[in-house]
Amino acid sequence: MSDLILFWHRRDLRISDNLGLAAARQRSRKVIGVFCLDPHILQRDDVAPARITYLMGCLQSLQQSYAQTNSQLLILQAPPLEGITKLATALLVKAVYWNKDVEPYSRDRDRVIAAALREIGIEVCTVWDQLLHEPQAISTGNGQPYTVYTPFWKNWSSKPKAQPVAPFAGAIALTETEQNLAQQAGAIALPTAKALGFIWHNPLFLEPGEQVAQERLTEFCDRAIANYQEQRNLPFQTEGTSHLSPALKFGVIGIRTVWAATVTALEQSRSEEAQDSIRVWRQELAWREFYQHVLYFYPELAEGAYRQPFKTFPWDNRAEHFEAWCTGRTGYPIVDAAMRQLNELGWMHNRCRMIVASFLTKDLMIDWRWGEKYFMQNLIDGDLAANNGGWQWSASSGMDPKPLRIFNPASQAQKFDSEAEYIRGWLPELRSVETEALVTGKIAPDDRDRCDYPAPIVDHQQQQRLFKERYQRQKAKER
Ligand SMILES: Cc1cc2nc3c(=O)[nH]c(=O)nc-3n(C[C@H](O)[C@H](O)[C@H](O)COP(=O)(O)OP(=O)(O)OC[C@H]3O[C@@H](n4cnc5c(N)ncnc54)[C@H](O)[C@@H]3O)c2cc1C
Repeated sequence: MSDLILFWHRRDLRISDNLGLAAARQRSRKVIGVFCLDPHILQRDDVAPARITYLMGCLQSLQQSYAQTNSQLLILQAPPLEGITKLATALLVKAVYWNKDVEPYSRDRDRVIAAALREIGIEVCTVWDQLLHEPQAISTGNGQPYTVYTPFWKNWSSKPKAQPVAPFAGAIALTETEQNLAQQAGAIALPTAKALGFIWHNPLFLEPGEQVAQERLTEFCDRAIANYQEQRNLPFQTEGTSHLSPALKFGVIGIRTVWAATVTALEQSRSEEAQDSIRVWRQELAWREFYQHVLYFYPELAEGAYRQPFKTFPWDNRAEHFEAWCTGRTGYPIVDAAMRQLNELGWMHNRCRMIVASFLTKDLMIDWRWGEKYFMQNLIDGDLAANNGGWQWSASSGMDPKPLRIFNPASQAQKFDSEAEYIRGWLPELRSVETEALVTGKIAPDDRDRCDYPAPIVDHQQQQRLFKERYQRQKAKER
């Protein structure tokens, strides 16, 4: 008789190329999945309705995938310590398997649950799945974690990468008695995002599910990846980047599958430019891993600034400026267009994430953690490691040694949206305004009145000077 194994899904919402699930299946044919809707996570004040709507859609799709294998995905709505141990005990499971995570909350939670399960005689098996290289595998010559991206990338990219693993298949179903026991132990029907209190009215930026993510990867690698280097910085190019971030955030696609697609794309590429582009895209995958490794080794990053001058930085934190930034009413068209994209799509182009983050911290002098939280409240791909990494990079409060990186919104718009296509797309009220005025931000007062568009709320040059002075004063305090 096969042992019953429980596989606990968290941010690996797929049955293909899933290392933990494959390990469970190798151990036994009787594997069932479980996902726990954790009230601690759902009740936080930085949860985006778009993200939960995507998550619930992915769980629905995962349940269908399980059904096709003869097994099933159970849903719990309880604190995981209580929910997982109760279910495992009721079903007399032999072992619980899961994939490891880098986030501080997840690591603490997992430690406690592993101890509780072992205490009651249930085995626990965990593996790394969401990274091509687990944190301990990439270190400096002295065995220390990297704190700077470029040497990390050199080391990371030189290491061989694992192949995707076979999809989960050929399972043995739960008996009727076991199904009843699961229900008594808390298994429920999958609720909708709306039933959980999350309402997202707009279309989802990426449709949920493993198949959609796989199709998106194939489409990107067949066409756009070859021009990625050139197109990735142009926010009006809707096909310039992969749009896989929600799928990568929730593990709806396996990272080995993603890497394997880049290997095929490289083999099929016909020009050096195309090959360079594929390598540039791989560098983005490495940024994703860099930030996860950094968070793993320096969990304190989740709480605040890494660099000393920013631990006590005298931010202005003016509520009306923050409100103008959130609603896309700063009077800087490229900033406002980007914030409207975030509010309407639940996603923002990477170039614009950098522009608005620089603007919030260096021009408005608002604490980067306000922006970090607003992003998490709205992004479909909101992810602690990538978001915190991106914000600390933009605020210069993180590990990056270049402290005074300040983006000029006008130069950014002139360079990356020279025809103001992106600006006009997201600020329709400005459609009739001349391109030059839109990209420089110098919109005539008459036009502003006519279009009901605000005057710039701060002066970029002046704020840049002020920020530099404050920064130097903070640095001087260190000496
Ligand atoms: C302030 C700020 C906040 C950000 N917050 C998030 C976030 O919450 N979640 C998130 O996934 N990304 C975040 N990013 C990184 C980046 O903007 C998005 O990953 C990217 O825009 C997603 O679009 P894509 O899938 O088309 O990316 P592509 O350009 O196709 O890149 C492929 C994948 O690589 C990863 N990636 C790309 N760039 C980065 C990066 N700079 N850092 C880490 N991973 C990267 C993502 O998983 C992405 O899906 C943030 C960047 C900044 C500057």
